[in-house]
Amino acid sequence: MKKAKGDPRLPAVRVIRNIAGMRRQVAAWRKAGERIGFVPTMGFLHEGHATLLREARKGADRVVLSIFVNPTQFGPNEDFEKYPRDDGRDSAIAAAEGVDAIFYPRAKDMYPTETLTRVHVAGLSEGLCGAHRPGHFDGVALVVAKLFNIVQPDRAWFGEKDFQQLAVIRRMVEDLNFPVEIIGVPTVREKDGLAMSSRNVYLGKAERKQALAISKTLKSAQAEVRKRGKDLQALAARLRKTLDESPGVRLEYLEIVDPATLRPADRLDGRAQLIAAARVGSTRLIDNAPLERSR
Ligand code: AMP
Repeated sequence: MKKAKGDPRLPAVRVIRNIAGMRRQVAAWRKAGERIGFVPTMGFLHEGHATLLREARKGADRVVLSIFVNPTQFGPNEDFEKYPRDDGRDSAIAAAEGVDAIFYPRAKDMYPTETLTRVHVAGLSEGLCGAHRPGHFDGVALVVAKLFNIVQPDRAWFGEKDFQQLAVIRRMVEDLNFPVEIIGVPTVREKDGLAMSSRNVYLGKAERKQALAISKTLKSAQAEVRKRGKDLQALAARLRKTLDESPGVRLEYLEIVDPATLRPADRLDGRAQLIAAARVGSTRLIDNAPLERSR
């Protein structure tokens, strides 16, 4: 990440809170022939988000970052209220990464009345995280559809860290003909392998170490498959056991799936993705990695 905190040389980034104001700004850029890049986030930015912003900077004339902790994607007993926030730091990072505008809407403007419309991407939304967070992907699809209609980007960047989310959004864009190109960005990790996440701040010191079991399991599976290929479902069963027995880790699910359909993959004749969610203490962590046999 470029120097961010309180760097006096950086110009302040324009923060737009109002939906009409965001539309006016985008219309002006578009009139000047500029292409709009978009990175939607829930804020509390880290190097994963910064990487998305850097890719957007390279791939568009103007970059809009949205920061919105979207209430409709949180379940009733989830961490909506305590989701971490740091506006000052976020805008410093945005400035350092050359963001042109931060769209920072208020919940009452995004959801002024009860939303009766549902955006449900059937088939891709129900399994994996969807089975443990009912309604989560409907909330994600709804807010991303709304944000696309407000920001009207030519291109939008999403992290592969949220693999199922990326699949849901790609399919929504295809099914509903949104005129936006979706670009996936590989997961950015801490030096020791832990996938970066805003929720990592919830982890205590001991939990932070225990959480490493997740990325280590993914890595060892990648190495194993690369060497020998495998009966993927037998491998998944073994990995499930290893990870679930790892101290401090409560496995929610671990699956090896076809990356397009998210259905269980049996053989490595195409591509396969290992995807897992687990709780460490009260923190829910997700991670995934591609499995490929070396040729
Ligand atoms: P969030 O603020 O967690 O909703 O994430 C906003 C965007 O950043 C999503 O497209 C995420 O997939 C992406 N993202 C989050 N963590 C990472 C990471 N470690 N590497 C790459 N992208 C990430």
